[in-house]
Amino acid sequence: MKKMIGTLLVLCTIGANAQSTQRTASYMPEGGYASTIKSEFIKPSLQKQLQVGQKIEHLTKRNFAGETTVQRLTERSYWVQTGFYNTVFYVGHQGVLVMDPIGYGSSVSVLKAIQSITDKPVTAVIYSHHHEDHIGDIGLYIKQAKKASVNLRIIATYATAAAMRAGGSELPQPTEKLNFLSDSTTFENLTIKVEGFATAAHSSDAAVWLLEQEKIAHIPDLLNPNQLPYLGFGGSETYVGYKENLQALDKMQWKYLSAGHGNIGSHGDVKFMLNYLDDLESAIQAASKASPFEDFFIAKFNNHQASAHEMQESIINKTMDSLRGKYGEFYGFEASVPYQIRMVLDSWG
Ligand SMILES: [Zn+2]
Repeated sequence: MKKMIGTLLVLCTIGANAQSTQRTASYMPEGGYASTIKSEFIKPSLQKQLQVGQKIEHLTKRNFAGETTVQRLTERSYWVQTGFYNTVFYVGHQGVLVMDPIGYGSSVSVLKAIQSITDKPVTAVIYSHHHEDHIGDIGLYIKQAKKASVNLRIIATYATAAAMRAGGSELPQPTEKLNFLSDSTTFENLTIKVEGFATAAHSSDAAVWLLEQEKIAHIPDLLNPNQLPYLGFGGSETYVGYKENLQALDKMQWKYLSAGHGNIGSHGDVKFMLNYLDDLESAIQAASKASPFEDFFIAKFNNHQASAHEMQESIINKTMDSLRGKYGEFYGFEASVPYQIRMVLDSWG
């Protein structure tokens, strides 16, 4: 999800006039957004460990208010969200491991959150994938490490290192590289595993990072717990492989999902997303059947691209109408699902 901050700025700017206040209000169902799965919503706590399936209450409101939310997951791991981005950190015996040095200055709040819990320095950072919105603040961690005379470990896969080079990234390369498809390393007593995908939909280097003994899975941008996917499946390059990536994630052993955006997740959130994709695909198939080729490829356009556009618009509108009853009250429905319909259609060729 690369353009989130820019998009938010645009929303804020438009929000300044009365016309768009109406438009913004029209996205919010009466009574607020519905919860995608049955969850107990709790106030965030630095002390009380989260039970699997519990979620943070009023998270969207907290984000729009500029709050930083910190929630203890286990004895040693904490989830932190700021500016619609989230990650996890693990407090070891000697130092702290941070899952992603999230960008746009958000890591200032993450570092503050860490310092509110421990005075141990950050000694290792993971790049989950190469997108700079999730790893752009690495410089802050390097600076802090120098101050504390720590030799900071930056752990990533060879695939991420290669994607950074290919994209001309100016961020520091990882100091330790793991094999993308399956590999592991340790941080003090903790085992860190990485499991890549044969076809990764989000980006070629998107992988699941598992903090084994903590039972935490970290994979940004694949799904946003308690929301529908952001625009085109969270900035995925393609829909090809997307469902398989979710199925693979669901088969892995973990309890807490750290998804980069949205609320704290569990296997229930992955299952919700898989059901949503089944419903989305069925609705698109039905809408395609109800929008026959010959109804649109008519002489009046004299332009096959205009005809294809009209046909796709018809499929999108029909699909939206058929999904609205079941999904219309979830965060993101009106704004994002049309993008997803287009991507699924593109993947079907
Ligand atoms: Zn990304």
